[in-house]
This record gives sequence, C-alpha cells and structure tokens, in this order.
Amino acid sequence: MAAEMPVEQRVLVVEDESAIRDMIAFALKRASLVPMLAEDSRIAQHLIADKLPDLILLDWMLPGTSGLEFARRLRREELTREIPIIMLTARGEEDDRVIGLDAGVDDYIVKPFSTRELIARIRAVLRRTQPHGEGQTISLGGLTLDTLSHRVFAGDKPVQLGPTEYRLLSFFMTHPERVYTRSQLLDNVWGSGVYVEERTVDVHIRRLRKSMEPFGLEDYVQTVRGAGYRFSTTV
Ligand code: CA
Repeated sequence: MAAEMPVEQRVLVVEDESAIRDMIAFALKRASLVPMLAEDSRIAQHLIADKLPDLILLDWMLPGTSGLEFARRLRREELTREIPIIMLTARGEEDDRVIGLDAGVDDYIVKPFSTRELIARIRAVLRRTQPHGEGQTISLGGLTLDTLSHRVFAGDKPVQLGPTEYRLLSFFMTHPERVYTRSQLLDNVWGSGVYVEERTVDVHIRRLRKSMEPFGLEDYVQTVRGAGYRFSTTV
C-alpha cells in the first residue's frame, strides 16, 4: 500500500535573489517536484519545521546566516542531518567546494546554470540518497511509517497526523525503547534553534496519542514519570 502511493518530493530552495528563486521554482514544478521557497535561513527554518524537504538547494551567499553556516547547522541537527544539500554558488573556486564538502554538502552547482543541469543534478542526488527510489518504510509493532510520503499506517489504515505529530512519531520510531526528556524531544523534533516551551511537547504527545487511539496503539507513546517519554511497542 504505502509504496504504491504517488510520492511527492519536496525541494527547499534557499535563495535571496527572487528572479533565480522563481526560475528554479518553475523548473522544479515542470519536473514534478514540489518547491518550498525561502529567501533566507530564518524562513527556511520555519518551512523545515512545518514539513521536511527531500532535498535542499542552498545559495552560498545569503543575507544573515550564510549558506555554508546554515548547511553546518542542518548537519548538526538530528532532524535535518540526512537531507541532501546542493549548494548554489556564483564562485567556482576550488576552496569553496572543499569547505562546502567538509560541511557535508552533497553537490555543487555553479551559477549561472541551466535548469536542465539543475534538475539532472537534483535527480542524481535524490537517486544516490534514496537508492531504491521508493519510500523507505519503518515498521514497528502495528505501525508503518513511510519516510518519503510522510504517511503512517496502522495495519492498512492511514493514521491522520499533523506535521508536528508526524515528526514526533518519526523520531520515536527511529529511536524506540529509549527515554527522551522534553528538552531532548524539542531539540530533535523542533530543532535546537527554535524556541518552544516544554509543555508544547505534552500538547503534541496528547495529539499523537489521540491519533493512535482509533487503532488501540496509543500506549506505544509512554510517559516515563520524572523523566519524559518513550516509544515502545511493548506495552
Ligand atoms: Ca545570493
């Protein structure tokens, strides 16, 4: 079931020049990729908090946080560590590439580039980082999570989740049987650069449990008194 659904691949474009951003957005749509557009890292961070992209196109020269610094930050955070990054740079110097590759950037495109080249590079990186070209699924107990389509199933029935509950569950399912404090969950699921009160975690835990209730799986999300929360299929 999960693997047969149309897979929507999102590309986050972080570029301050609107003409280039628009040109890239147009090319992405024509290639059946879904653009998410940001003019700086702050906006990009907000978009990522709402929905994880499958790939990030990151301009080297950005106002505020530079593309390079932002790439480093993305690599430090659990949630975004695995998302491939292609850097856009106007400068073709070897030095930049080496620094960028050190920061964990997957590929480079030097401006000016053709949209055909851009799409080809994006496809190549997506193929490399998602080698089977299909949703990687994680199954635990009665739950299956499709990391590409961001859908979750209880048996063959879809579980209705908001974006934050999806990320929370995705984190839990990739880190089961371990206790996390609210603050650790905030860092891993919301991102350490985002200021949110700890009780926000409780709100989303409640929502997540509520979404799992129809399937009798709410006890997978366990409260560990005085410590935090744990995901376990052993109830
Ligand atoms: Ca720029």
